[in-house]
Amino acid sequence: MPSDIDIAKAAKIKPIFEIAKESDLMEDELELYGKYKAKISLDILDRLESKPNGKLVLVTAINPTPAGEGKTTTNIGLSMGLNKIGKKAITTLREPSLGPCFGIKGGAAGGGYSQVLPMEDINLHFTGDIHAITTAHNLLAALLDNHIHQGNDLNIDTRKIVWKRVLDMNDRALRNIVVGLGGKSNGVPREDGFDITVASEIMAILCLATSLEDLKNRLSKMIVAYTYDKQPITCDDLKATSSLAILLKDAIKPNLVQTIENTPAIIHGGPFANIAHGCNSVMATKIALKLGEYTITEAGFGADLGAEKFFNIKCRYADLKPDCAVIVATIRALKSHGGVDKTELNHENLQALEEGYKNLQKHIENIKKFDVSVVVAINKFPSDTEKELELLYDRCKVEEVPVVISEVWEKGGEGGMDLAKKVVEIVENTTSEFSPLYSENESIKDKIERIAQEIYGADGVEYTKACEKQIKEIENLGYDKLPICMAKTQSSLSDDPSLKGWPKGFKITVREIKASNGAGFLVALTGNIMTMPGLPKIPAANNMHISDEGDISGLF
Ligand code: ADP
Ligand code: MG
Repeated sequence: MPSDIDIAKAAKIKPIFEIAKESDLMEDELELYGKYKAKISLDILDRLESKPNGKLVLVTAINPTPAGEGKTTTNIGLSMGLNKIGKKAITTLREPSLGPCFGIKGGAAGGGYSQVLPMEDINLHFTGDIHAITTAHNLLAALLDNHIHQGNDLNIDTRKIVWKRVLDMNDRALRNIVVGLGGKSNGVPREDGFDITVASEIMAILCLATSLEDLKNRLSKMIVAYTYDKQPITCDDLKATSSLAILLKDAIKPNLVQTIENTPAIIHGGPFANIAHGCNSVMATKIALKLGEYTITEAGFGADLGAEKFFNIKCRYADLKPDCAVIVATIRALKSHGGVDKTELNHENLQALEEGYKNLQKHIENIKKFDVSVVVAINKFPSDTEKELELLYDRCKVEEVPVVISEVWEKGGEGGMDLAKKVVEIVENTTSEFSPLYSENESIKDKIERIAQEIYGADGVEYTKACEKQIKEIENLGYDKLPICMAKTQSSLSDDPSLKGWPKGFKITVREIKASNGAGFLVALTGNIMTMPGLPKIPAANNMHISDEGDISGLF
């Protein structure tokens, strides 16, 4: 197989206005960003208001291993497969962050023969949305420090500032810093720190907002600090809402690009899947539902985090009814769940596969709890053996869950036709009965326990003393009637990354609850959640090159 970037370079990309025309977008609804990228005006939703929505398909996965299971690749391949069988499909995806791109995971524009184009642009600065979010976030940080420097009329307790700074980079050296050093004219010294931009609450807000008005409303409610008498200080208290919204006026518009086979792709927003909800923007999904017969969307990490939040947060707020969920599984990852070491994954091991299958089994059970139809897509890797594929296929058959082998990475849309046919068959023969798992009006603990018991299979939930106190404070402030955003390791169904497969007989520990009041959810943190990743010993950045003619290699 040629490398991703070589496949991308060899693809026949069309001018983006042609893709737009084929998708029934009007010329004045398109803002061109060069030849192959465009932003879509939000006005389109008014024009198409009475048009019925297409079908919504979520691509999710088993608990991931470090390389990712191929959700993005499967999403793109499925949309191309649907096109090949005569359905008008649109893929909607998250925007890649520069941190992982130059770190260990690489970009997020798919892989092999299932990619979105122009791959370099999408993986790099794209249309500047993430930069806009970085700037808006840091403007608020600057306004906050300036307010304190200018006399602190709001009585902000500088030890209780919860608004850090952000940068779209993996840089562990910035996790904990001190600002305001250098004497009186340089501000008030205090401890601070950086998160990666995709962990910013503004990213989550941009992805949940349903209009510019809703964006402003959510921004205004973001909590940045607490006063000495424990009262929250919001973005609005700092008179910052409008200036932040001005910086985001273009970032709120979804971006149109295309797949390698010229299927329209709307790529917009990319919140973390731990401290945020991990889905592309609501606006992107809503526009795609108006333009295509099938919208394929993705949620981060495994179904325990990604799909759960897609259903309980995104679908709840945006009033979306998903018609089907595709769970992506790979033989390699299931063997790893069955206890096989990373270095041994290329060898056939039926016993480990059988054991690891239990992880998939639990995710299938979980999706059914939302009354959403399930299809398992076995994302075929070159190292998979016939016997392994047969075993996994048969296990799913026994479970009576539809299962398809997907070869989209190797063959593009053609390798996704079987999956496409299966999805269509299911969607056309069922009506979505989707409903969220809990009501947002339940108590904080009830909501968390419901997720832990039903989705993770935990026996119960323990709370640290500090967390108990935070729950009371949040209840007193009246912020408790919000959905929960669980921040948990992605590597296990439990909160312990070393427990693979389908762990049983465990409790999870919640050590902190944080109100992301603007985004509209309460983050429940278990374990140590990284909001500013570091770089590995040999970062992907070390193997990238650009020729004197501008040809790039090493981006994946
Ligand atoms: P996710 O969205 O689940 O994080 P991606 O689709 O981004 O996963 O895939 C992660 C990496 O694995 C990418 O580099 C992709 O090219 C590679 N990959 C995905 N599917 C396959 C496959 N079937 N064979 C080989 N490599 C694959
Ligand atoms: Mg992905």
